[in-house]
Amino acid sequence: MRLNNTKVYKVYLKSLKIRRKYPYPANNLQYLDMNKIEHIGIAVSDFNAACSLYEKLLNTGVYKVEDVESESVKTAFLQSGPNKIELLEATNDDSPIAKFIAKKGEGVHHIAFEVEDIVAEMERLKNEGFVLLSDKPKLGADNKLVCFVHPKSAGGVLVELVQGIG
Ligand code: ZN
Repeated sequence: MRLNNTKVYKVYLKSLKIRRKYPYPANNLQYLDMNKIEHIGIAVSDFNAACSLYEKLLNTGVYKVEDVESESVKTAFLQSGPNKIELLEATNDDSPIAKFIAKKGEGVHHIAFEVEDIVAEMERLKNEGFVLLSDKPKLGADNKLVCFVHPKSAGGVLVELVQGIG
């Protein structure tokens, strides 16, 4: 009985600490830093084949195709309900996508979270010990400012922060 009470008390203390650290009301999503998954990025080696495959899978058409020269990728976006999928094909051998596919093959490449203030969020993550792949936000696909978090500091997952710019 006593042990159980100690356990309950520890959990209670832990919850207080979490509340102090992240003082956002759970039911008020607009105050959360990473308020939703904006899209999931998938590395593909055959752009047209992948577009056809995901159009069939999601039963919807690609609504946007865009080259992102800074990252040497060609992207296609599909939307299913509130969910977005970004297909990424390398446009040259130096592209991060070419390197990813050479190492791991096609598949899930990154998870992108929408943020309200990307600079503030980058600062918060840096202070938490995460390694960012750029010092400043970059212009990414789909009219977004983006920044990537190194997978080595994020449990093996490449995390992208995105902030819409109108
Ligand atoms: Zn992305």
